[in-house]
Amino acid sequence: MRRLRNVKIVATLGPASETYDMIRALHEAGADVFRLNMSHGTHDEIREKHRIIREVERDLDSPIAILADLQGPKLRVGSFANGSEELEDGASFRLDLDTAEGDATRVCLPHPEIFAALKMGASLLVNDGKIRLKVEDCGPDYAECTVVAGGTISNRKGVNVPDVVLPLAALSEKDRADLEVACRLGVDWLALSFVQRPEDVAEARELADGRAAILAKIEKPSAVEHFDEILEVSDGIMVARGDLGVELPLQQVPPIQKRLIRKCRYVAKPVIVATQMLESMIESPVPTRAEVSDVAAAIYEGTDAIMLSAESAAGQFPIEAVQTMDKVAIEVEADPNYTGIIAASRGGRKHGVADAIVGAAREIAETTDIKAICVFTQSGTTALLTARERPGVPIIAMTSLRGTARRLCLSWGCNCVMTEVLERFKSAVVNAARAARSGGFAVESDQIVVMAGVPFNMPGTTNILRVAPCDERLIYSTDPG
Ligand code: ATP
Ligand code: MG
Ligand code: MG
Repeated sequence: MRRLRNVKIVATLGPASETYDMIRALHEAGADVFRLNMSHGTHDEIREKHRIIREVERDLDSPIAILADLQGPKLRVGSFANGSEELEDGASFRLDLDTAEGDATRVCLPHPEIFAALKMGASLLVNDGKIRLKVEDCGPDYAECTVVAGGTISNRKGVNVPDVVLPLAALSEKDRADLEVACRLGVDWLALSFVQRPEDVAEARELADGRAAILAKIEKPSAVEHFDEILEVSDGIMVARGDLGVELPLQQVPPIQKRLIRKCRYVAKPVIVATQMLESMIESPVPTRAEVSDVAAAIYEGTDAIMLSAESAAGQFPIEAVQTMDKVAIEVEADPNYTGIIAASRGGRKHGVADAIVGAAREIAETTDIKAICVFTQSGTTALLTARERPGVPIIAMTSLRGTARRLCLSWGCNCVMTEVLERFKSAVVNAARAARSGGFAVESDQIVVMAGVPFNMPGTTNILRVAPCDERLIYSTDPG
């Protein structure tokens, strides 16, 4: 599906977006990646959403990435008999290990390790910090709290205890089971929550065993501290601002976001900015000025993708939220200031032929009138290097591997096109020109850049660049060999 922007949109699926019609409409409105949150919903529900996404992908003949988000050692309350309750400031509220459904006076918090570590006076933050409870009295299986800041509490909302250090394993039993289900379904990305150390990523990578790419969610202070090592072993990053903003003072989140985006681009790995991007659109068809500015800021900073959480999973206006992101992105990317900022922040380690070739492609795009950069890629690496250059013309990532096409849907500017297994560079050029024309990127009289590795089908061999006409007769008559 051709987009008029380069930054990608990730939409979380939930009760507000689980039918074929809705998922298709979200993709058509601009969602490039769908996130399945393994914290919510049964394996059967996950399976069903996965099936529908693949059906939409087939019907629209447009690769879609699926990202399964593992809950990790996230603490959550249990369920309520009424689904949700209002907590008033000053009221008493009890958390305990009783698995019975909750009401306005209590709810289950199924984590004995919290009660073991809690102290009187500690704060408990619920739902990305929106509700604040203070512990007045506690024992091995309960905590009596006062509501310091009230609000709506509902099923399975997350709980943070910033004052207390909890001994938590990176992957719970549930995470391991969820990971296996997700990999068997064939998701493209696995997101790991509450990563603290590079070893956490290594553990998941071993379990995934090449079946999915690994994205580390940065939402713990220790992950920020060890960010360089975590980035090194991850395929992508999510700036998970919800928990990050609870675990650290809120004002530290924007500079961290900027720094992480910059570092990811330097090493050519995709980064997602997530949480509360258009929060008010859960209930309103229009966003606030501040939210629009936040989305725009992330794009100006050079992020690969922006994400919707509850807005698309449980809100009243999922399509409008995607459309809003789409419109903001188109506007920002058309701003000459954006081009300037993105060019000024270009950088990163460069070594080897592929780096030099993608740099040359970008320069050709700047100095001539070529309409697209077509890159043949197996592992996806050359497409990622091209995306890092943030060229001013569309990138068409051509691959014979469906998994590569899907994974690249998360990366800035990559328009992914499936191609048959090719033997010769000449047929690659013909295919690239066809893809550029049929995707509406170029017409017969235009020129494009084609990059590939010869001999074909060997990963890591990008070694050829041609400025080629889009007219097939000319491709043959001007072919050098
Ligand atoms: P995380 O910390 O992993 O982001 P979250 O609970 O904040 O977890 P999001 O996916 O970010 O979840 O936001 C989705 C919102 O939609 C949640 O507040 C959740 O309560 C609601 N929701 C309900 N059912 C689902 C579902 N099946 N999938 C996803 N979200 C759901
Ligand atoms: Mg989270
Ligand atoms: Mg969230």
